[in-house]
Amino acid sequence: MSHAEDLAIGARKLSGGCHCGQVKFVMQAIEPLAVKECNCSICQAVGFLHLFVSKANFELLTDWDNLSLYTFNSGVARHWFCKTCGVKAFYRPRSHPTGYSVNARCLDGVELEDLQISPFDGRNWEANVGELAPL
Ligand SMILES: [Zn+2]
Repeated sequence: MSHAEDLAIGARKLSGGCHCGQVKFVMQAIEPLAVKECNCSICQAVGFLHLFVSKANFELLTDWDNLSLYTFNSGVARHWFCKTCGVKAFYRPRSHPTGYSVNARCLDGVELEDLQISPFDGRNWEANVGELAPL
């Protein structure tokens, strides 16, 4: 986000990060925040609420070295998490490999009731990925 001050119409600048503060980011998104709750094996375990964001609208403020990487199966998704506290605040999803998915639970000042949460059947990913909007 090289021009973080240049907000798109209707967009809100958001900040977020992990629990310990070693991972911090800023991003922008259109309100109301529409997030996906996925039932796949890893998202269910983590409780991840997906807010998809393009690379241009996301900026990591802390060092990439503060993140560990976990991959499985196809290896396309990059499941980064904080090396210190273990929180997965954002990652690169297989559905949007040019962008990111931010965990809406990790956004500053955003309450669950502020979110428009809809389900995504990630257990049947190939059959359902087409319903996800492009970035
Ligand atoms: Zn942390």
